[in-house]
Amino acid sequence: MNDKAYPPIPGAAPAGGAEKPREAPAQFPPAPRIRNNLTFEEVGPLWDSFRAGNVVPCPGDSGPLALNVDGNNAYRLVCTRCGTASSWFEAAPAGIRLRTVPPGPDDESADI
Ligand SMILES: [Zn+2]
Repeated sequence: MNDKAYPPIPGAAPAGGAEKPREAPAQFPPAPRIRNNLTFEEVGPLWDSFRAGNVVPCPGDSGPLALNVDGNNAYRLVCTRCGTASSWFEAAPAGIRLRTVPPGPDDESADI
């Protein structure tokens, strides 16, 4: 499982009590609408636009997306402003294909 798109939000449970909750000091910094993942559905059109030579805006904050290239013909779009990134994918003539195993320095199981 690699499903980390929507972590549970602390304190988001519906308040059933009669007491009106005060504005408690947040334990976490207020999270702007920044996501760490681009979905595969988002990457497709972004990639097409990128290949066409356009500057592709990040869906989260409209920052420019940069292309990450791995030596194994794998690509990834990463926002240069907020760090939102897509999964690694391969660019095939018929379209992009998601890689299931992320290459690169994070891959510790790369021994022969
Ligand atoms: Zn961004």
